[in-house]
Amino acid sequence: MKKAHHSALQTNSVETEPLSIAQANSLIEECVQGLFHGLAPQALEVELGVAFGRTLAADIISPIHVPAYTNSAMDGFAFRMPEKHKVQGGPSRYLIVGESFAGKPFVGNIRSNECIKIMTGAVMPEDVDTVVPFESVQLELGQIQGAKPVVGEEIHIDWARFRAGDNRRIAGEDIAKGACVLRKGHRLHSASMGLIASLGFSAVQVQSALKVALFSTGDELQRPGEALKPGMIFDSNRYTLKGLLQGLGCEVIDLGIVPDRPQALKQTLAQAAELAHVIITSGGVSDGDADFTKTLVQELGEVFFWKIAMRPGRPLAFGNISKRLFFGLPGNPVAVMVTFLSMVRPALLQLMGQEKDSGPLRTTTQALCEQTIKKKKGRTEFQRGMTRRNSKGELCVSLSGNQGSGILSSMVQGDCLIVLEHDREDVNAQEWVTIWPLAGLI
Ligand code: AMP
Ligand code: MG
Repeated sequence: MKKAHHSALQTNSVETEPLSIAQANSLIEECVQGLFHGLAPQALEVELGVAFGRTLAADIISPIHVPAYTNSAMDGFAFRMPEKHKVQGGPSRYLIVGESFAGKPFVGNIRSNECIKIMTGAVMPEDVDTVVPFESVQLELGQIQGAKPVVGEEIHIDWARFRAGDNRRIAGEDIAKGACVLRKGHRLHSASMGLIASLGFSAVQVQSALKVALFSTGDELQRPGEALKPGMIFDSNRYTLKGLLQGLGCEVIDLGIVPDRPQALKQTLAQAAELAHVIITSGGVSDGDADFTKTLVQELGEVFFWKIAMRPGRPLAFGNISKRLFFGLPGNPVAVMVTFLSMVRPALLQLMGQEKDSGPLRTTTQALCEQTIKKKKGRTEFQRGMTRRNSKGELCVSLSGNQGSGILSSMVQGDCLIVLEHDREDVNAQEWVTIWPLAGLI
């Protein structure tokens, strides 16, 4: 922690150059580790049905084999494969001596010239090892074509066409009893929910939700729902941020709109630090005459840095108040989203102890840029983009609408962010660029 604190302060006193996103990410990571060591979220038990999106607080160890018993993967006939070197190839006659249904197993013995009818998922008796599907079986001569063979009838199985064990699912082949199937820190999604249920658990240990206090700053802000007064704008950032935070499973403490008055801001910041693990504000973090947030956080705690070499989103204040992480995001609505996604989101995932499955740019991919884009070396630039496939099937991207940092509509029209890396310069048409799909992210 000390180290992070020092390096942050040394590399970014007010006079120095802005940090790159990568530098900011690693400083935040270091600070989170130091600050929150020993302050890990509490574990609680919740019913599986309401655990979607929560983070596991303990490993899930399988108490059973999955499948629990050896069973058939097909509807057909189960028989024991003869030892091939002892018998000639070609179809052999088998007498059907019984049936095994899912949930209604066959009981009894099955000899080498006998078989049973078996359905998908039904228990395979120990006497048999292989299943031939219905359609691969010839009926005994004299039977009507297409009729379903029944117990007591004979069939021909052309066993030479199969290998012992075909169409059989062995007990424990998916998950062995005692195996760790999900690790602490895993964020529950649809597949993992089903997997846990398949082991018989009706409840899981999850981490208590991370509490995030949120407020917007600005004398010009009005709540949606009121009539807009001259010179005012509606507060949209709080709604965007709420959505982003809820999407991560955080508990949002909404502290509303705070005017650009130091007293009110300071009071709300102190209150936020008492209520939440993390404080997020928007607006008022640049160097303007009405930008008080940084100074006030410095009075109440520490600001480690506040300038990032990125666009949009250059001002981003990061610090802490009484060991509560503080992120002062810019005011412009698109800058809010971009700074949140690239710097706040990874920190929150880290705080929630989630697996590193969602590093800042882990879900990026490459696309052919369909137009030229001006880009300055020495900062990361995010553009809103729209993807499509060209006639060769390649993923292409073009800019989606007006790119102003206050223009949210192009964020809605687009389906990705085009990420122009720190050292990149102008992009020519048909160059490959990194894109960050927004699906599932916002
Ligand atoms: P600031 O950094 O406070 O100067 O804000 C930069 C720009 O973002 C200004 O045009 C603000 O009006 C706008 N802005 C600030 N906060 C919000 C908000 N909560 N919702 C929408 N726009 C905002
Ligand atoms: Mg402002």
